[in-house]
This record gives sequence, C-alpha cells and structure tokens, in this order.
Amino acid sequence: METTMISKILIANRGEIACRIMRTAKRLGIATVAVYSDEDMNALHVKTADQAVRLGPAKASESYLCIDKIIQAAQATGADAIHPGYGFLSENAQFAQACIENDLIFIGPSVDAIKAMGSKSAAKTIMQEAKVPLVPGYHGEQQSPELLAQEAEKIAYPVLLKAAAGGGGKGMRIVWQAEEFDSALAAAKREAQASFSDQIMLVEKYLTEPRHVEIQVFCDQHGNAVYLFERDCSVQRRHQKVVEEAPAPGLKAETRAAMGEAAVRAAQAINYCGAGTVEFLLDSDGKFYFMEMNTRLQVEHPVTEMITGQDLVEWQIIVANGQPLPMEQSALQINGHAMEVRIYAEDPNNEFLPCTGLIKQLIHPPESTHLRLDTGVSSGDSVGIHYDPMIAKLIVSGENRAQAIARMDQALNQYVLVGVTTNTHYLQSVINTQAFKHAQLTTDFVERHANAIADYQLDYDWPELATLACFALLSEQVKSTDVWYQNTRLNHHSKSSLALHINETLRTFEIISADDSYTIMSDNYTALSMQASMQNGRFNTLINDVKTTYVCYADGQSLLIANSQGQWRAQRQLANHLSDQEEQQDGAILAPMNGSLIALPVNSGDSVKKGDLLAIVEAMKMEHNIKAPANGVVTECHYQEGDLVEGGKQIMLISPEAEA
Ligand code: ADP
Repeated sequence: METTMISKILIANRGEIACRIMRTAKRLGIATVAVYSDEDMNALHVKTADQAVRLGPAKASESYLCIDKIIQAAQATGADAIHPGYGFLSENAQFAQACIENDLIFIGPSVDAIKAMGSKSAAKTIMQEAKVPLVPGYHGEQQSPELLAQEAEKIAYPVLLKAAAGGGGKGMRIVWQAEEFDSALAAAKREAQASFSDQIMLVEKYLTEPRHVEIQVFCDQHGNAVYLFERDCSVQRRHQKVVEEAPAPGLKAETRAAMGEAAVRAAQAINYCGAGTVEFLLDSDGKFYFMEMNTRLQVEHPVTEMITGQDLVEWQIIVANGQPLPMEQSALQINGHAMEVRIYAEDPNNEFLPCTGLIKQLIHPPESTHLRLDTGVSSGDSVGIHYDPMIAKLIVSGENRAQAIARMDQALNQYVLVGVTTNTHYLQSVINTQAFKHAQLTTDFVERHANAIADYQLDYDWPELATLACFALLSEQVKSTDVWYQNTRLNHHSKSSLALHINETLRTFEIISADDSYTIMSDNYTALSMQASMQNGRFNTLINDVKTTYVCYADGQSLLIANSQGQWRAQRQLANHLSDQEEQQDGAILAPMNGSLIALPVNSGDSVKKGDLLAIVEAMKMEHNIKAPANGVVTECHYQEGDLVEGGKQIMLISPEAEA
C-alpha cells in the first residue's frame, strides 16, 4: 500500500521539547516549522527550526494556545503534520479535531481517546470495565457533599479528593479524618473551579507510602500494542516530578509484566493510537492501581529511550504515517539503568519561586551515549515570566543504578549556568541522599528526607579556596578601583591581596606570583603553591604534580570553576560596600519575583487583617499569594491588577495598626 509520508512537521510548542522533536525530524529528513511568541523570537527552538512562524504576544493564551493561529501557520508553511509536544494543546481534543478538519496529521491519539481520558472519573469507569485495577474510591456523577462524605467513610480515611478535570497536582486535597472533610471539599472545589472551570470531584483511598510507577505504551493503526516498560517517578515536589528513572528499582519481573499488560489493556479499551502513558500507584506489597492515562509524549520519555535504545518521537512519526509499530513486545528489552532530572529556573532557598533573568553563561557537560541534554535555552537567552520554569533535562544511563547516579552527579557538576538561579544543587542533594542511593522511593520522598536533602553541601576545602583565589587573580578584568584588590611589584615577584565572598563568608587572600607560579596564603591555612594558566576558557592548575582542569567563568563580580568533581563559586568583594538593594520602608510589601499581578483585591485606604490576601503574582504558570504580615491600613498602592511587576519592587505600603 502506497502512503504519503509526513515531509514537514509544525511543532506547536516551545523550549526543550520543541528542540527535541526537531532533532528526530531532522535525522529522518523531515522539514520542521517552529511557532513562537514575541518573547521567544530569538529562542533556541526558533533557531533550530527550518522555518518559524510568529503567533502573537507572549501570553500563552494569545500565542501557544491559539488553535486558529497554529493551524494557519501550518497551512502557510505547507506543513502536513503537527506535533503538539507536552503541555499547551497536547491533550486538547478540539485542537486534534481542528487538525483533522484541516487535513493536517495530528501526531497523537484520536479525538475520542483524548476525550475519554480527559476526565479522571470517566477514565476510571472505562478502566474498570477493562479490568484494570483502580484505587478504591468513588468516581460517580452524584456530587452532593453528604454522598461524597459517605463514600469517604466507606473506603476509610485518609482519603484524597481529586478534581475530575485536574492536572498538575491542582484541585487535590488529602483528608485525614471526617471532621476535615467539608472544608477540604470546599477548598478542592474552589481550586478546581478556578483552574479547570469544573468542580466534579472523585474520592480515592489515600495510599500513604506508594510509589509512582508509570508504563509507556505504544499502539499503531493496525491494532498492535506494546509496552516499553516502566518509569519510576516517585520523587516529586507538590505532586510534580523531580527525578525520573527506568527501570523502577526492585520491580519484580512478574509485576512489570502484569502492569505492562494492564496498561496495554487500558490503551486498547479506548482504541488508542500512538504514544501514551498509564500512571499507576504501586504499594509495598506489589499491588498496583490505575491513576490516569496521559495521551501524549511525557516529559520523562528519554529514560525509556535510554533503556530500550528506541526513539519514541520516531515511533510517533511512524505510527502517524500509518505504518506498523517498529517492534513486537518480545523484541523489546531493558538495557542498564537511566535517570532524568528536570532543571528548573527556580530558587530552592526561596520556596522554589521561579527565577527569571539573562543566562550569562551556559556550559554543558559533554554529551555521549551515556549522557544526553535536552535543552530549550542557550547562553545569552533570557528566562522570562510567561512559561514553565523547566529549562532543560539531563538524562544519563549506566550499566546499573549506582553508575547512573554517579554519572548524574558528575553531569550536574559540569552543567554550568550563570545568571539565573536553578535547582541543580538541590537535584544533587536529592540524588546524594542515602535514601535515594538505597532506592527508598515513595511519593513523599522529598518531605520525608527533607533534612538529609538540606544537609548536602559541596566541600570548599583549602585547595579549592586557594584555587578560586588564584582564578580570581588570573581572571582579573575589572578596574582595581571596582573591587577590593591591591597589587605591589617586588623585583620579579608581585604580591596581590584580594577578598572573596565564598558561601556567605568573606575571605581575604594574599598571593605572591612569579610568571605562572603562585603562592596563596589566607588566615589559618598553610601557604599553598601552584602553577596556573588560562587557555581557551579553561583554567588549569598544577599542585604537587597533580594537574586539574576546570571550565571557568568570570565577570565583574562572579567567579566560577567547575569540573566533574564539583562546581565552586565566589563573588569578588566590591570596593564600595553599597548594596544595590533599594532601601525599604517598614510595612513595604514587595514583589517576591518578576511576574504579573493577576489579583490585587485591596485599594489604598483599605484596612487589612494579618493573613489577608493582598495580591497574587503569577510567573511561569505558578501563583504566589502575598498576605498581610500584620493588621493595618494600606496607605499606598503603586500598581493595578494586570500590571507587570519586577521582583523586589514595592507593590504597596501598609501602615501597621498600633498594638492595643
Ligand atoms: P495530576 O493529574 O494533577 O498530576 P495525578 O492523579 O497524576 O494528578 O496524581 C499526582 C500525584 O499525586 C501522584 O503521582 C501521587 O504522588 C499522588 N497521588 C495521586 N493519587 C493518589 C492516591 N490515591 N494516594 C496517594 N497518592 C496519590
């Protein structure tokens, strides 16, 4: 049978996933079309594509979520297929429908399959019929609070209330006992209404120490279906995945087969086509329960690619072309162990608030068959407030899990990003805990091991401190009036003094240098001699016959050296100690980050009570509530709802009520 093959794909997405899809398309000789918002005009995915079409302003609702504009872009460029990536329109049945109506191939499942899995309640009904095990609970249409409370009693507390239309962990509430039920239900409904315009709730038994294990399935248009094994995504923060791996540590072969077969049954129950993921909770007895099915390519698909040696985007294209699946179940095998971490522009030391800014420098660990980097950003890009803060993913594989962890640790050391705060250190803290190394994976991992995660520190021993000081001297680019720095010539030698902030401690160093030899001195340490040089962006040292090479970065103030063993940072001490922070008044309410003010329920002159909501700042799809720190009166308000606000700026001023 002669079929026409896809020859040009429009990718209706941005960031790392758009780049990743293009990588496969290019390898297959398929032309690519990117779409972009004004904010993304110079983004990596635009540069990577053969053509790129502007959609509109930065707001997703005016660009990446505009079905009409995307269809028009495909038509204008002659694309014959659309890949939706994940997020945005990837699970939007209307979008899939619009593609079909316009003779465009939607690289994803059928409209009916998307609809069937769009509601967690409806999905559970279908799965029940297909004999896929469910978490005990209620997923019916009756929604009276009395009935829901009765159902909760039936399955026994604790229970989990979940929005049927939910996603991204929103509209979910754990209820530990009957007394809390009514208020939890009201809160979950409010959140569900706000996020999904739908209040339908389901009640599930809350499993206290489960693992999140999901199965990758693939189906073609000829009735073939396979599973490409599982991924363990138990390490989550606020129900969002942080680390993913495959295979799931310690999973018995028979459980794997049972879960795989249940997932295939789930897919076949809705005549599924293409890539899908069936999510399960797995308890400590090896019992598993269906949670939901995601009808798209997942963020964490690369770990499956690593252990199976397959390219899932290629499989998607093959299936969309109407060809049969490339492999049968019996031919698929697991090789080694793979792990992925999600790199977010966020500040783990400040409640994981998203961070924005200019990426001044980005150096990647070298890619190999064991190390893959899926990135959506490069040096010189800005991370803005409008989209998801995930900017890249690091994926490694090893012969076994321990080797994968060791490789990931090294890769994170070598991932150097300057200018925007990221969670890389946090990720290292997680994978270096004993609990993680021993694969004690449960969905409460991050809370349960919070102390061990917080304790993780990279050593700054004397050799590293001395090396940083030496690098500071060699990379001296700023006028010596800007930084605290002195230099005296003594015959062939010169003697320099400098001060660096390292891990919040100010340290002073004296360095005597002659040619490329340096002797570094600092309080309480024995003088250390080294040879050092800078070449092609590398900083090389020789200490006691041991040569070490670092990638390095220095601008006016920030200094960084890194290699597979660690990443060490310092700040030069400024000559004038003036901080660039604005002097803030008492009662000033500051924006916690760059973002838009999506709610501003108070006005100048209003009285507020401690804990009252003053404003909601939204950045990168996350909302941050700002509450009144004390009772008082709003005396000044500098913004209006809808305004953009810069992190650190004063939003309003409150004059606190005098203590009675
Ligand atoms: P969302 O679609 O909002 O991401 P999911 O249904 O996929 O919601 O659940 C997200 C996470 O919440 C799961 O990975 C798991 O950690 C937790 N979870 C969901 N259902 C239960 C349950 N019944 N018991 C315990 N934890 C659960």
